[in-house]
Amino acid sequence: MTAAAQVLGLDRASDHLAVRWLGIDIGGTTTDVVAIASDGEVLASGQAATRPGAGLVPGTLEAIAALDVELDALVGVGIGVPGQVDRETGTVRLAVNLGLGAAPVPLAREVKDVLGARVVLENDVRAAALGAHRVLAPEAEVLVFVGLGTGVAAGVVIDGRPHRGAHGLAGEIGHVVIDPDGEPCGCGAQGCLETVISGSAVRRRWGVEVAAAGHALAVAAAAGDTRAQGILDDVVAHLDLMVQWLAHTYGADVIVLGGGLGRLGDPLLVPLRHRLRERAGRSDVAARVVGPERVWCAPAEIPLGAVGAAAVADAPIRPIEGVAIRLARGPEGRDGLPASIKT
Ligand SMILES: [Zn+2]
Repeated sequence: MTAAAQVLGLDRASDHLAVRWLGIDIGGTTTDVVAIASDGEVLASGQAATRPGAGLVPGTLEAIAALDVELDALVGVGIGVPGQVDRETGTVRLAVNLGLGAAPVPLAREVKDVLGARVVLENDVRAAALGAHRVLAPEAEVLVFVGLGTGVAAGVVIDGRPHRGAHGLAGEIGHVVIDPDGEPCGCGAQGCLETVISGSAVRRRWGVEVAAAGHALAVAAAAGDTRAQGILDDVVAHLDLMVQWLAHTYGADVIVLGGGLGRLGDPLLVPLRHRLRERAGRSDVAARVVGPERVWCAPAEIPLGAVGAAAVADAPIRPIEGVAIRLARGPEGRDGLPASIKT
């Protein structure tokens, strides 16, 4: 049993239950897959290396095969994928990290041809937002999930449904210009939000080439590296602004920070909540929007993207009992909780 299946409630022998849905989250380096039963139980979960370019479809099928589950009763497959997703045609294009250029890749059709079930695509961050809603806060009227990875993007769930906006770009906050004189961005503009608070921005500003830049930065800051601390402080200051925009613009009652940087947990969350709390103490308006205890870091062990992708294909998803209370706590209130739900 994988850690994710454990956290999501795979707590009894369930070989007799058939897989009805698959949820797949194709990331830049890894692909997460979950198998869901008709009652929403997570029957299996797994992870495989993503194969870019022409390897995308075969790599996705290999990740599914590695789950080693019967798919005879499969009714739906949801796939969360970065890049420009066309839900109507089931194609994806312009995903730099996946080696996809301008030509649309018919991902949905090719997977459907092999599995014989309905396949739907969704933008990866939007799928993760839906996963966060179903698993962490199904009661939330408006949930915003922010993927802080190589880039920055938000997925918005309103009344339980993904909000895509008129052009399908709702939540693409990474390219909002916050400093017109700032660093050049890959999109062609200057000073976009993701030139400040993404994992790649941290790496560039710090000048240290490490895989998990956010984690390394937090470790260095905690060890007394003042330059690392300065960059971390600046990231938190901009996250604070971002949380305010999202809270006011969407009327969010829960904001979840995910992606490599967002999963950092306390080094981000403690100072961020401190800023939010301080402002709420001074401003009646700030006190009425999303509370500091409703800003969470995504639990690293739960494949929210894959679970959310299954939900995009209409799979019922079970929430984790009591998780909101735990995520709301600061580090001092989490003693004795399983590591999987500590943020
Ligand atoms: Zn940009």
